Amino acid sequence: MSALEMLKDKIREALPSLEFVIGWEQGFDALHATPFFMRTAEDVEKLVFGPLCVHNLSTYLPSFRGRKVGIVLKGCDSRGAIELMQEKLVERENVVIFGLPCSGVADLAKLGRFAGDLDRVLAVTWDDETFVLTTPAGEVRVPREAALADKCLTCQFPNALEADHFAGEPLPPATGPDMGSDRGGEELAALEAMAPADLMAYWAEAMERCIRCYACRNACPMCVCRDHCIAHRRDLQWLGQDDTPREKLMFQLIHTLHLAGRCTECGECQRACPVGIPILALRRKMNRVIRELFDYQAGLDLQAVPPLFTFQVEEANIEERKW
Ligand code: SF4
Ligand code: SF4
Repeated sequence: MSALEMLKDKIREALPSLEFVIGWEQGFDALHATPFFMRTAEDVEKLVFGPLCVHNLSTYLPSFRGRKVGIVLKGCDSRGAIELMQEKLVERENVVIFGLPCSGVADLAKLGRFAGDLDRVLAVTWDDETFVLTTPAGEVRVPREAALADKCLTCQFPNALEADHFAGEPLPPATGPDMGSDRGGEELAALEAMAPADLMAYWAEAMERCIRCYACRNACPMCVCRDHCIAHRRDLQWLGQDDTPREKLMFQLIHTLHLAGRCTECGECQRACPVGIPILALRRKMNRVIRELFDYQAGLDLQAVPPLFTFQVEEANIEERKW
């Protein structure tokens, strides 16, 4: 029996005691899977899982706090759920987790470079080596490495880290030079090597393109103060509504600081950005700082307390101020 069929069996068994189970179904075209709330055994038949299931479903969980729900989680998504539980924004006992191994999700922007126009793609299949896009002009073959999201090429946690039911064989983490503490290394190294004026020019150019849609914020499972979001205040304190790179960068820096020690590098913020701004680099930079200071990565341990949720007068890795 395939992992997907095993998963469906487990969900059908658990469904009577749950309001719904969140998973994915085939979307509006061949290239999209969309989040899907299963409420009946018939719904479960529509469940799909594969490299087009990109959305981090844990972002829904805080909305259903106090309700008994189920959720399908791959490795990176499970870190979001764990972090939310660590922060007591979601109750572990109210969530039944159906965990999966994930061998990577597709980056549609990358596939688009091969297909020319994603609207022309009639069907898509994949195996361990290749994605095959069927278009009116014929088949387009894309090497798997060239199709996967960058985060998947260096994935340390391909399997759901917390699960009540796990379907399939656990996968090994990716190996390569850009792993562990150097994750995102090349990209960060290039940014860190820039002179401050060049770095500001880089981000100013990037922020020029930002349309302030806040898709990056809305897609982020850890961005939880939406009802009081600083970006929507009329009584301005930190951030204005001007359409300037300065204000937009200010929002990104506030977002990055709010995520210090909490960002799981799921990449949803960058994936959701309609204008391709490389904002994950800001989160990765902060994550590197958090790793160096606190030896901590978010969303790995239900019992751990995120470092910025604690206060110690003398942090081991922070030099005491000399005043
Ligand atoms: S900031 Fe981006 S990478 Fe980090 S948890 Fe939020 S969506 Fe995921
Ligand atoms: S998703 Fe992109 S364009 Fe939209 S607010 Fe975020 S950075 Fe700006």
